[in-house]
Amino acid sequence: MTAAAGAALFEDDASLRESLPGYAARAGQAEMAAAVGQAIDEGGRLVVEAGTGTGKTLAYLLPALASRRKVIVSTATRYLQSQLDEKDVPLAETVLGRRVRSTVLKGRANYLCLHRLNLTEASGDLYLAPKLRAVRDWAARTKTGDLGEFGDIGDGDALWPRITSTTDNCLGQECPLYDQCWVVAARREAQAADLVIVNHYLLFADLTLRESGFGEVLPGADAVVLDEAHKLPDIAGRFFGQALSGRQLADLVRDGVAELDTLGGDMPSARQALGDVGDAESAFAAALGTDSGSRSWEALDTPAIREAVAALQTALDTLKGLLEPAADRSDRLKALTRRCADLAARLTAVSAPETGQVSWLEKRGRGWIWHSTPLDVATPFARAIEAYPGAWVFTSATLAVNNDLDYFCHRLGLGEIERRVLPSPFDYENNALLYAPPRMPAPGTPDFDAAAIEEIRALVAAAEGGAFVLCTSYRAVAHYGEALTRAGFEPLIQGSAPRAALLEDFRADAGAVLVATSSFWEGVDVRGHALRLVIIDRLPFASPADPVLAARFTAMKEAGENPFMDYQLPQAVIALKQGVGRLIRDADDRGVLAICDPRLFTARYGPIVRKSLPPMPVTRDRNAACAFLDALSPA
Ligand code: SF4
Repeated sequence: MTAAAGAALFEDDASLRESLPGYAARAGQAEMAAAVGQAIDEGGRLVVEAGTGTGKTLAYLLPALASRRKVIVSTATRYLQSQLDEKDVPLAETVLGRRVRSTVLKGRANYLCLHRLNLTEASGDLYLAPKLRAVRDWAARTKTGDLGEFGDIGDGDALWPRITSTTDNCLGQECPLYDQCWVVAARREAQAADLVIVNHYLLFADLTLRESGFGEVLPGADAVVLDEAHKLPDIAGRFFGQALSGRQLADLVRDGVAELDTLGGDMPSARQALGDVGDAESAFAAALGTDSGSRSWEALDTPAIREAVAALQTALDTLKGLLEPAADRSDRLKALTRRCADLAARLTAVSAPETGQVSWLEKRGRGWIWHSTPLDVATPFARAIEAYPGAWVFTSATLAVNNDLDYFCHRLGLGEIERRVLPSPFDYENNALLYAPPRMPAPGTPDFDAAAIEEIRALVAAAEGGAFVLCTSYRAVAHYGEALTRAGFEPLIQGSAPRAALLEDFRADAGAVLVATSSFWEGVDVRGHALRLVIIDRLPFASPADPVLAARFTAMKEAGENPFMDYQLPQAVIALKQGVGRLIRDADDRGVLAICDPRLFTARYGPIVRKSLPPMPVTRDRNAACAFLDALSPA
């Protein structure tokens, strides 16, 4: 069977109707499936924006699985990964009438590393001992080594990095436990599967050969489908650049000390050099100061910091020089020597970036990550995918700006590629209303917050809850949250509980109000009456204070481009579309979208933003918006 034959199931949809109760034909879904089928059969490239409700997952899964070729589906969020694995792949199997060998492959940080578990146990850390015993018990029972099953370790737990591996500290084929390794087992399973579900980070690690020599998945694939592709340009920047963190250096020191002790403690100079690396890292962290946030290297480049960098470089070079002659004493020492050389090279790369890269530093508490990020990801991305000749399909509900995919294609260097923009099948004309308050002050002016709060209070009261207030900053979340509390509501506020718990509480209470920022703008699916009002305070322009953006804008200006129109605006439109997409999730959903930012109508670019939104009626009259909300109340 070809992929096109899988796509044809949407044309003559008898088997879909028979297999999927409640299935309704959608023209956009059939068109997308046909385009995906053609791309897979011909090894082509395709970009598809499929509006909410198109049914894009099945539109690519059926042609992909029908082709019986090896397919990778990559997503940005865990939510979509689980949905594919637990719901969409079983549905596709039902339609096709056969089982498919599929697997979810996660990043290595999700799997228990038996070697590091041994090392951590041997360290005799009494504080960790009870948890280590529990992990060891679980390790004897698990069939996958996926720590998600263990369930008792949070992402931020200090134990996590001690029992998982990184590309830096993994011994690879030199590991004595290679044959029992869970990372290797997961990769082998992926190599044998017909469908492998990964996330974009893992895909990029493969694409940029960060996992070289460790059972890559990409080379065996005939087709790659990148869902939630709007996230790709930002993720790509990280993988085509370099980074060095304080944590990597601390891990090197700790693992180095443990190995030298194991070897009998007869390398006092190397042991001293490890201590010097630790001291130099501490001195560098102290020189950076206590302010958290991201700053360009130019802004940090003071004599004191430069001196601390030089000391760190010297300490790493000295350690490397002492380890190299002794590296053959053990596989672990060999790996440590390689790691030390790699970290020294990274320090050189981030402190003296190549032309076209920006050097910047991220500081959180005492921790730091120093990056060198390319200003242009289009060239390296285009080159990287060129090396894999299979089909490439890029899709998301939000890729187009004013129905045009140029911005997305340009940022990834996709050139002349097959393109489709498929509108949502939902009836926005009758089921939704866009309310843009009149006479709003400009964002950033002293009166804006008070005016926004007045609108939020009135709309939330009219809707009797069932509302998301989506903000562009944590400051606004706190501010609006306090105002709603003072007004007698009991808002759920981002940061007050884990994301999943907040969503569960929201769904459980018909009158709930959630005030949140970034991570709630996308990947959140609350259907039906539970969510009937989405309020967005400002157009979500990325901050030009971001060091990578600032450098990118400077480079664009030098090249005669317009950073605002060519970059900042399209990026904001795509982010806005994500937020707007939370409101109508199903054919029967109804609700009001309120955008408090007056630039929607006053700015010269306002029409571009408005034309990029789903086609819903617009009102500037709050009474009309409240009446619409009032009419939504169950009788
Ligand atoms: S091969 Fe790497 S990940 Fe696997 S057990 Fe060894 S060190 Fe850990």
